[in-house]
Amino acid sequence: MATLELRAPLDGIILPLEQVPDPVFSQKMVGDGLAIDPLNQLLTAPCAGTVTQLFPTGHALTLTSTEGLEVMMHIGLDTVTLKGEGFSPQVTLGQKVAPGDALIAFDADLLATRAKSLLTLMIVTNGERVASMVAASGRVRTGQDACLTLTLAEGAVEAAQAEGKRVTSQAIVIPNPTGLHARPAAVLASLAKRFKSRVLLQRGDDEANAKSVTSIMGIEIALGDKVTLIAEGPDAQEAIDTITPELAAGLGDEGSRPAPAPATTEPDPAKAPAPRPQSGDPNLLLGVAASPGLGVGKVYQLRREEIQVPETGDADPRKERRKLDDALDRGKNELEALQTELKATADAKKAAIFAAHQELLEDPGLLDIAESVLAKGKSAAYAWQRAYTTQAERLAKLKNVVMAGRAADLRDVGRRVLGILTGHPVEEPRIPPGSILIAEDLAPSDTAKLDPTEVLGFATVGGGATSHVAILARALDIPAVAGIDPSALELPDGSDVILDGGKGQLRINPSPDEVSRITEAKARMAAKKAADLAAAFEPATTTDGHNVEVVANIGGLKDAQKGMTLGAEGVGLLRSEFLYLDRANAPTEDEQTQIYAEIAAALDGKPLIIRTLDVGGDKPLAYLPMPREENPMLGIRGVRIGLDRPEILRTQVRAILRAGKGNRIRMMFPMIATLDEIRSVKGLVAEEQAKLPDTDPVELGIMVEVPSTAVLARQFAREVSFFSIGTNDLTQYTLAMDRGHPKLGAKADAMNPAILQLIAQTVAGAAAEGKWVGICGGMASDPQAVPILVGLGVKELSCSVPAIPMVKAAVRERSFADCQALAQEALAQGTAAQVRALVPSDY
Ligand code: PEP
Ligand code: MG
Repeated sequence: MATLELRAPLDGIILPLEQVPDPVFSQKMVGDGLAIDPLNQLLTAPCAGTVTQLFPTGHALTLTSTEGLEVMMHIGLDTVTLKGEGFSPQVTLGQKVAPGDALIAFDADLLATRAKSLLTLMIVTNGERVASMVAASGRVRTGQDACLTLTLAEGAVEAAQAEGKRVTSQAIVIPNPTGLHARPAAVLASLAKRFKSRVLLQRGDDEANAKSVTSIMGIEIALGDKVTLIAEGPDAQEAIDTITPELAAGLGDEGSRPAPAPATTEPDPAKAPAPRPQSGDPNLLLGVAASPGLGVGKVYQLRREEIQVPETGDADPRKERRKLDDALDRGKNELEALQTELKATADAKKAAIFAAHQELLEDPGLLDIAESVLAKGKSAAYAWQRAYTTQAERLAKLKNVVMAGRAADLRDVGRRVLGILTGHPVEEPRIPPGSILIAEDLAPSDTAKLDPTEVLGFATVGGGATSHVAILARALDIPAVAGIDPSALELPDGSDVILDGGKGQLRINPSPDEVSRITEAKARMAAKKAADLAAAFEPATTTDGHNVEVVANIGGLKDAQKGMTLGAEGVGLLRSEFLYLDRANAPTEDEQTQIYAEIAAALDGKPLIIRTLDVGGDKPLAYLPMPREENPMLGIRGVRIGLDRPEILRTQVRAILRAGKGNRIRMMFPMIATLDEIRSVKGLVAEEQAKLPDTDPVELGIMVEVPSTAVLARQFAREVSFFSIGTNDLTQYTLAMDRGHPKLGAKADAMNPAILQLIAQTVAGAAAEGKWVGICGGMASDPQAVPILVGLGVKELSCSVPAIPMVKAAVRERSFADCQALAQEALAQGTAAQVRALVPSDY
């Protein structure tokens, strides 16, 4: 087997990774390697290779060795917060280096005073290519001493060679009227970044890294220039095939004049913009359901005035840079104050959105663009406006609808800073009570300020069901429709409308009859809600005495407390990932133990099911670098992360076991698809349990959210104590419809009889082994689904906290015998609509 010697990248003293005071590194979440306490100020290459990642803040980079090993070097701890101060990269992305070549110079004095630690990490991030590694110890000298000796895994070198494929595109004529300026450059960079391969843009002798906006803009490509793309790496061909047509078509730049396509090229229907749905009824405007409920009120058009900015800045760009820095600091302070205000009103969800806004103000990509515009002598306001609009447009174009939804956040926070820079703070609109707001787009900060007693609903032309605006509307319980027909913007202020947030519709010119019918229906719903609430602490027992446990889905302590005030009989799903998200470091074992114990205490002896970390794919963690995946929903997510990076799972398992002492805690694993997975997890739990003699065994269960698990329910039931069916993912994976997709959302209905069949199969498999089944997907909160689920034999319904009283009331409405008959009838149907037609709904 081949070996590779990594030379010391610094003069210094070697320390084992375990001693680094940061769990991300000490628990080897990023990979294995070592730390060096530096005695000099120049990081050098430990081996020959290519710089494949260079953080814009210059504090870290990754070198991919000729053998394909990815060696990440990170100078100091938490040094990303220095935003580049004290670091001078000596290389550029894509540069080839020899052992001992200078990589990053740094100011050790500055770091010693400003950073948490100077410890510098050298970590192999693709450890699967390494069979074993031996670290040196003690003092090492840069470039001279070996500090890590690696034995490469069988076939690693061959695999790396296979990856080193180089593919060149045909010549492409640039169609963009103003060449590859910031926006198309940003689009090109974001496209190129989707691929592992190095991607270069070449025009004659000029060459740019296609993953870097500034590098692309640096070679000033103009209309009509002939360029070629070169990709080198494992997905080189795919990169060229994907990027070439986009580049030739102008990267979405308006007014591009692409060279005519060859006659044989078929138009790609997938790329054509989908026509907006039309109702055929001139009085019914269609959109996407963003927040349920009916609003009857008068139109109020919310329009934003354009902020005018001067283009030219002070002759000294440093002055403009200072202005921008000051405005960014003020923007961050405003956001901080807003969060404190929201936290005081226990509104953690809204506070988290503004915390994310605060982070956006530190986004290196954004600052890079502003910097490059400032360097051209432009004003701070102009540079900032260019930066955030460029990035927002880029985000809005992304295929990932969740990411695209973040464009509104970026524009919102961008306007906040622009207001500060131009002395035009964003004005608060005066909205008359009883309004239905109509807007091109609502900023999340507008939505957070809406008063539900005055604003009865809103419809936006932009946005989707997963945007932050939609999430806030649901939290405020305001009906909302996104993606509404743009003709809504022409409705006169004060005209009557009916907004149906559940159906995603806006009815205009309603007759007085219609208005009174809807007003009555709303009053009926309000009365039913009040009655459900009054009976919230009654058990959920059918008229013939069959009892069902109604428990809560929670994200943290506050939800648990709220659930207890609404009659929850425990917690059927703690989405523990909420403890991991929006943090710079992984939560420690002690932190987790404490929070789990606090939640258990809030439940006062009622059961608590803790689901282990369910992230990955489209839900990345800031401190856990994960490789890009072609199909993240089918990739390393859920329990697969725990098995891939066992230290994270082990830490969590220990915390759950420790918190379980004296509490009714159960442990549940997400995304289990094969028996091997659950067996491995059980082995891991047993090992940790053996190390913690002072803990009691906890019951283990799995989420059933992959069809394979439902089909093999009986075999799985032999391995665990209970099942909880995650109908959100089970529906997505059964129907092959992305659960967050704005166009497929309505079709991905868990009431589809195919899903009901899988639930029935799961219940039968569990019952054969004497185990019980709960439901923790959104279906458990759907009052139409409740009697069917009860009839299918589900024992526990874990629903969203506000839905608890309603779900309990729905169980009490019928006899178990009726529910069973209804379930059998539902199983025999062909479509979700037919199933829904069997269950009339008051909601
Ligand atoms: C589910 O998939 O139904 C579920 C409850 O898990 P999550 O929504 O957190 O993926
Ligand atoms: Mg799920």
